Amino acid sequence: MLFKKREGNPFSELPDGLFVKCPACKQLVLSKEYINNLWICPKCGHHKRLTAKERLGITLDPGSFVEMDSTLRSIDPLGFPDYSGKLTRDVQKTGLLDPIVTGTGNIHGVRIAIGVADFTFMGGSMGSVSGEKIVRLMESGLQNNLPVILFTASGGARMQEGLISLMQMPKTCAARARLIAVNIPYIVVFTDPTMAGVLASFASVADFTFAEPHAKVGFAGDRVSQQAQSNTNTPNNFQSSEFSLEHGMIDGVVSRKDMVKTISDILSFCHYSGGRL
Ligand SMILES: [Zn+2]
Repeated sequence: MLFKKREGNPFSELPDGLFVKCPACKQLVLSKEYINNLWICPKCGHHKRLTAKERLGITLDPGSFVEMDSTLRSIDPLGFPDYSGKLTRDVQKTGLLDPIVTGTGNIHGVRIAIGVADFTFMGGSMGSVSGEKIVRLMESGLQNNLPVILFTASGGARMQEGLISLMQMPKTCAARARLIAVNIPYIVVFTDPTMAGVLASFASVADFTFAEPHAKVGFAGDRVSQQAQSNTNTPNNFQSSEFSLEHGMIDGVVSRKDMVKTISDILSFCHYSGGRL
């Protein structure tokens, strides 16, 4: 995405990285302006996919994040072809051991349990470690009376772990049910994309569910959804934040710029810090 110097390019005298090209409208944007705008394109409003580090950086009070379970990493239980190699490559590429990063931190001074997904690690896919980390995060919320907030970004369950990854769907939902029993608020934010086994489990059972604008939200992959569209009158945007809102699946489509305030307002509404729903 970084703008590269090229022969004959009018910007070729500018230093590398001064501009970025918006992946949606393809226009050039000053990288400083882009970052200051929370990676939202000032020309078209496109929300760039964020890494876990970027997401935590714009969401939490500075210096408040304390990571949990940072050493958990997947094994290769099925001996799936090239799974170990893929894991190793993504660990080296991202510096993470799993797409889900969990811990505690503050939003406007209120302590929360937070999990964020990083799509750059195996497409944010949910394997045994992701499920375990989400469950432990919810248990931390239970034990310490902390609201639980998750930012999702995933293609779904991780096929390389087969049924073990699918088991994470009921497992995370069972942990979520324990939050309901003691009225601890649970907030989920769909970011681009939130799909399949993640959408169909812990992501869709929150007290408050929001999505970033134009995020892909759905269950079926592109080929299946295109077939559905050609065989039916399904609208083009049926796997999107906006369609989800129109049809009552989520509570709001919220710009990244307004997300922290929205979450903070909900925590105040729930009488946090320290209170319960
Ligand atoms: Zn743009």
